[in-house]
Amino acid sequence: NTGDRVPALIIGSGYGGSVTALRLAQAGIDSHIVEMGRDWTTPGSDGKIFTATASPDKRGYWLRNRTKQPVSNFLGASIDKDIDKYAGILDAENMGAINVYQGRGVGGGSLVNGGMAVTPKRSWFEQILPSVDANEMYNTFYPRANATLGVTNIDQAWFESTDYYKFSRVGRKVAERSGFKTTFVPNVYDFDYMKQEEAGAVPKSALDGEVIFGNHHGKKSLPKTYLAQATATGKVTISPLHRVTKVAPAPGSGYGVEIEQIDEQGNIVATKTVIADKVFFAAGSVGTSKLLVSMKAQGHLPNLAGAVGQEWGTNGNVMVARANHAWDATGSKQSSIPTMGIDAWDTNGVFAEIAPFPAGAELWISLYLAITKNPERAQFQFNSSTGQVGLSWTQAQAQKSIDLAKVVFDKINKKEVTVYRSDMFGSNKVWNDGLTYHPLGGAVLNKATDNYGRLNGYPGMYVMDGSLVPGNVGVNPFVTITALAERNIANIVANDLH
Ligand code: FAD
Repeated sequence: NTGDRVPALIIGSGYGGSVTALRLAQAGIDSHIVEMGRDWTTPGSDGKIFTATASPDKRGYWLRNRTKQPVSNFLGASIDKDIDKYAGILDAENMGAINVYQGRGVGGGSLVNGGMAVTPKRSWFEQILPSVDANEMYNTFYPRANATLGVTNIDQAWFESTDYYKFSRVGRKVAERSGFKTTFVPNVYDFDYMKQEEAGAVPKSALDGEVIFGNHHGKKSLPKTYLAQATATGKVTISPLHRVTKVAPAPGSGYGVEIEQIDEQGNIVATKTVIADKVFFAAGSVGTSKLLVSMKAQGHLPNLAGAVGQEWGTNGNVMVARANHAWDATGSKQSSIPTMGIDAWDTNGVFAEIAPFPAGAELWISLYLAITKNPERAQFQFNSSTGQVGLSWTQAQAQKSIDLAKVVFDKINKKEVTVYRSDMFGSNKVWNDGLTYHPLGGAVLNKATDNYGRLNGYPGMYVMDGSLVPGNVGVNPFVTITALAERNIANIVANDLH
């Protein structure tokens, strides 16, 4: 409420924010999380919390009048449809040439993501974040993150036998026939639960195609792990449907934080100002970058480093689909949780998730989300005439991702005598280069902040999320975001919070 003073205010409840809340609470510090999305705990009129994957209603999308499906077409025709404007779970945020998909709600991206929990190759990690002690990361903080997130591996015997991973086995077979390595990928989904789903013993979630609009069961999203532990301490409170719009030094000490409370239709119902002794930016790469860039440009935080808003990247994301032969069925039954990737990082600069396409019918489609070694970066810029922050990313910058992925999939197609599907991302469009699931950068560690996320010039202000990672982590990012937050908060608790 207006006038309140809190010891620590955390902006956003994704990975960075959840780690911060838990570790502050364990150090005895009360914190308050401000989250612009809903708390996804109450069912709608159909008795369900989340909307169905195949036919999303308003609960699927963040404040839009029309769905924006990542796989937008079938046989060239758009599958998008009108919906009511609502504080739905997945944001397809348009940033000029790119749509940046992000989770909205208590738990951030953990509510909508595929749960793929990948620790990057150490050599690549050392290249992108050279100021970080890699020994410490790989011996202490990656293990801590994986343990607290509940990361496990699929039972390989079950993987080989279940109909629900036929799509993965076909993806593996064709990749290996072309000389590419594949690898199992750990996940936060409870694979024992998934087995029981197959046996019909429990309600289906992954095996019912649930993922990008929320999972009712099985997925250990942040509200079941870090946030559950954090709130159980009694030292963490969360305000959903509250959006931070301004942060500036308060007279005396601390920071004044302006917050808009919104209703489920996105209307502003109240504005509040609170004072916080410490402010942790954990609004995600785009959310944190937008706030910092606009506060600097408007003179509220003029001393922020020039590196703020720089070095943003897409993690080289590009999507593509192939049409298999009739004898290579991918299955009418598909688990929505990916567990395998093509690892051509060292040879081709490509790590491709073998993705499900759970349409409920046999389509012989292999879908891939490729992470590529695309060196292109973009900047966030404040536009004084609109008051908005834009991103300089151009479609031409995505070409490098296509070029890298194309070498891998052209080889597979040539060997298999198969073709790309060109009807799934538009009509006659093979490469889906207009989206990213993995926004990274904008407040890069040891450049926009010190080596632990402290914002230079503003004691007690920190960055804790994906904006610390410079544009490309080579694998799916949330384990790295979590581990880096663990590392930084340990240092902050030890040095800044007596
Ligand atoms: P987020 O998790 O994005 O959290 C930021 C939070 O801040 C959000 O809840 C947001 O609503 C809130 N917020 C933003 N601005 C404000 C504001 N001004 N005021 C208040 N609150 C605000 N990664 C993987 O590693 N594996 C996967 O399998 C995977 N699959 C994915 C699938 C999809 C469809 C998507 C969209 C992403 C996927 N990701 C995956 C990416 C992963 O979810 C993100 O990298 C991760 O969530 C980023 O963590 P974060 O802490 O930086 O921010």
